Amino acid sequence: MLYQRSSQLFVEAAKVIPGGVNSPVRAFKAVGGTPIFAKEAKGAYLYDEDGNRLIDYINSWGPMLLGHAFEPVVNAVIEKAKKGTSFGMPTALETEIAALAVSMVPNIDKIRFVNSGTEACMSAIRLARGFSKRDKIVKFSGCYHGHSDSFLIQAGSGAITFGSPNSPGVTAGTAKDTLLARYNDLGNVKELFEANKNEIAAIIIEPVAGNMGCIPPANGFLEGLRQLCDENGALLIFDEVMTGFRLAKGGAQELFGIKADIVCFGKVIGGGLPVGAFAARNEIMDYLAPVGPVYQAGTLSGNPLAMAAGLAMLQEINSDAELFQRLEEKTAYLEKGTAKVLADNNIVFTINRVGSMISVHFDANPVCDFQTAANGDNETFKKFFHGLLREGIYIAPSAYETWFITDALTYDDLDFTINAINKVAKEL
Ligand SMILES: *Cc1c(COP(=O)(O)O)cnc(C)c1O
Repeated sequence: MLYQRSSQLFVEAAKVIPGGVNSPVRAFKAVGGTPIFAKEAKGAYLYDEDGNRLIDYINSWGPMLLGHAFEPVVNAVIEKAKKGTSFGMPTALETEIAALAVSMVPNIDKIRFVNSGTEACMSAIRLARGFSKRDKIVKFSGCYHGHSDSFLIQAGSGAITFGSPNSPGVTAGTAKDTLLARYNDLGNVKELFEANKNEIAAIIIEPVAGNMGCIPPANGFLEGLRQLCDENGALLIFDEVMTGFRLAKGGAQELFGIKADIVCFGKVIGGGLPVGAFAARNEIMDYLAPVGPVYQAGTLSGNPLAMAAGLAMLQEINSDAELFQRLEEKTAYLEKGTAKVLADNNIVFTINRVGSMISVHFDANPVCDFQTAANGDNETFKKFFHGLLREGIYIAPSAYETWFITDALTYDDLDFTINAINKVAKEL
């Protein structure tokens, strides 16, 4: 495959856009080489600017659950666009998608739409702090909740110490209110509650972590968090930006039967347009302006194009009774085939999977938190990534990312992929 045009485009982009990209992971820094410039996409396939076809396992980092350029979504956007693209006034469409989302997701009465997952999580913790009248939040190392200040905090050596900012520009004042815990370590969270009595507003968690590879919650972990929150008067926030409408209609809450107090959405809920949302029961949501005192707003929030895309997406998910079973079977097939060819080639690996989220780690030990995810062999991953790219398979350009399986994949695509993995494994 040739990437001449992508290389040129990257050079031009870097002159006017920092690092040539509008979101850092796209720059391929973790794997080296030149990022590929997308030209168009349909179903499970991406077509780049050099004319290569790639089978897509990123799917815009999740939104394309039903494949690229999914017709009901595309048509909904086209029809809406002809009638005006933004009003800054309420529309009936917003109520329609809100009612549908509330009917699909357990434990929520009301939902507020925003423009990104970052905004959803940022607003959710402001709401949790306002509602509980407490300042501190607990987050887990390796979980990503967007790029707002409170979340850009990395684990120091001692997990019970205050976090230190992991980006310049995040003030120490902000960092001190974010407490870090180890994923899947309930004892660690218990210690934080003991050391910060009546100060913790909320725990925020990816109920299946998807930003350090795919890491499932250990048995009893989410239940334990629920219980700790109840005992300590804190709110449990599920960041379902990845898992929402992907693991089940009702997301991780439905899959695991755990009730969250606030749920954040993004990715799938916008059908590929910039949408986020957060939702909770009435008591909490009515704490938001204009009803309550916690301020939150957005000029383009509830944008008609975005809502039309999201509504078409949710309608399809809601009406397809076999969708999640199909996704489960396709991803399990990929998991099984991948495990077989890696083992046949004597590669050391661990595969994690929940539903249509899957990750391959080049380490023999269980991957259950940020530390164990970081133990993977990054040099092998780089070779794996570039090898697959050469074979026409596009996975995330970082060892810490999940693959997002789309329903548009056929079993032929999956077999093609497993064969490619076999070929590449021989070179590792
Ligand atoms: C992608 C993601 C976000 C951030 O969403 P953006 O739309 O990129 O701002 C937040 N939380 C999780 C779990 C995510 O995967």
